[in-house]
Amino acid sequence: MRPLVWFRRDLRTRDNTALAAAARQADDGVVGVFLISPGQWREHDEAASKVEFWLRHLRELKTALEDRNIPLIIGTAKRFTDVPKTLLRIARETNCNALSFNREYEVNERRRDEAVTGLFEREGLSVSSHTDHVIFEPGDVLTGEGKYYGVYTPFKKKYCSMIGERGIDVTPRPRRPKPIEVASSEIPERVPGFPDSGVDPDLWPGGEDHARNRLDAFIENRIRAYRDERDFPAINATSTLSPYLNAGAISPRQCLRAAMSANDEKIDSGEKGIVHWISEVIWREFYQHILVGYPRVSMHRPFRLETNRIEWEENDEHFEAWCEGQTGYPLVDAAMRQMKEIGWMHNRLRMVAAMFLTKDLFLDWRRGERFFMRHLVDGDLGSNNGGWQWSASTGTDAAPYFRIFNPTSQSRKFDADGAFIRKYVPELDGLDGKSIHDPSEVPELLKQDLDYPAPIVDHRAARDRVMKAFRAIK
Ligand SMILES: Cc1cc2nc3c(=O)[nH]c(=O)nc-3n(C[C@H](O)[C@H](O)[C@H](O)COP(=O)(O)OP(=O)(O)OC[C@H]3O[C@@H](n4cnc5c(N)ncnc54)[C@H](O)[C@@H]3O)c2cc1C
Repeated sequence: MRPLVWFRRDLRTRDNTALAAAARQADDGVVGVFLISPGQWREHDEAASKVEFWLRHLRELKTALEDRNIPLIIGTAKRFTDVPKTLLRIARETNCNALSFNREYEVNERRRDEAVTGLFEREGLSVSSHTDHVIFEPGDVLTGEGKYYGVYTPFKKKYCSMIGERGIDVTPRPRRPKPIEVASSEIPERVPGFPDSGVDPDLWPGGEDHARNRLDAFIENRIRAYRDERDFPAINATSTLSPYLNAGAISPRQCLRAAMSANDEKIDSGEKGIVHWISEVIWREFYQHILVGYPRVSMHRPFRLETNRIEWEENDEHFEAWCEGQTGYPLVDAAMRQMKEIGWMHNRLRMVAAMFLTKDLFLDWRRGERFFMRHLVDGDLGSNNGGWQWSASTGTDAAPYFRIFNPTSQSRKFDADGAFIRKYVPELDGLDGKSIHDPSEVPELLKQDLDYPAPIVDHRAARDRVMKAFRAIK
């Protein structure tokens, strides 16, 4: 058998379930393939920085695969509907008679995979798909009544008990199949329709070795302080592994295995920093399960359907100010500028920026969700949608509508001396640690020199408006 391994968001050779299964079965070589889908990617609002990141991983993946006698073919299927035929053609051209891939859980991705499976099976090629992007297949972690969880804490409890029962197996690199006469493709420098993002590639190097080093360094040096420091954006306290988990340069199994090894094999007790980090990785899993249990969230619909009745404001000027980091609220502006500059935003700030858009500006969460996807190197439908619906009080286990962040208090609490604001909003650098959180309060004379906007909304009035709107749909 010669399997074709279809890589998607699993750009690694270690602990890759589909690759390991293919290598086990193969007696006549293995071929790898990755498909570039510029049209679909644009429709899905994939960020240019993320596409560049994928290309960097593909370069590393190609070398790692070739070391193991596996060529990597790069094909193009403009949209997902073009994928089945393109993939079948590549299978025929490379004499493959089986297909192996790791499952994805978004609605369009699942439809694409069903179409591929149907065509391959009709044409007499065998297909195997695997659980890999998450530790447990969506549908495995269910309530006592056999339903998908809609709340995180009981999901996590069940999840941890299942890890206790089943353990976590990390598969080593696959054995080397026999060499074959198929040449790898060149990895393109750019993908049409995705102009240079401007994000420094050195911030996010490609390759599974780099991802592994990032994980090891985090566990060695920072994980123990994680619980206490994770909310302060000026501190480098989190793992910054989200882009790597999203591209599959590292697996959630590798992450949890390493964290548990550093915690005497415990998952929900022991070292507080480690336990907290593990629970964040499980949030990611939770949101992937939500995608399958409640597919409407993949289709721009709220988890809590009654919130469809909220009449969000239409205000392009406010939306533009938020996008540009010109709202007059320094922490919100610093957050938005961080995302544009480095393609990533600190978790505390994602909540602050999303709450500000949905509660202070009272704009539709879907506008913000989309803007984030277009700029994040770790943009992920499940986690991004989950985070946005949490902030908008429309989602699973969401923030209650009456618990509204005050952007100025958040700033005082989590960036007390203004170090983070100074980095991304340099025009405020001259202000002292007190007024940097609320420049509208500095004397008029000084304000004129600041070149910084006055707050575009009044927080207190905005808060009243939201409370009224949510109460009205109760
Ligand atoms: C509005 C909003 C949008 C978001 N959009 C995304 C997104 O597009 N992609 C994305 O990966 N995360 C998203 N998150 C979740 C979270 O902000 C990021 O995962 C985190 O900031 C990544 O940094 P890190 O790798 O240093 O995380 P760490 O703190 O080191 O956490 C480890 C891993 O756990 C996962 N994780 C951590 N927090 C969360 C969370 N709240 N929800 C789901 N998974 C989590 C991530 O995979 C992360 O890499 C969003 C959160 C909000 C509030």
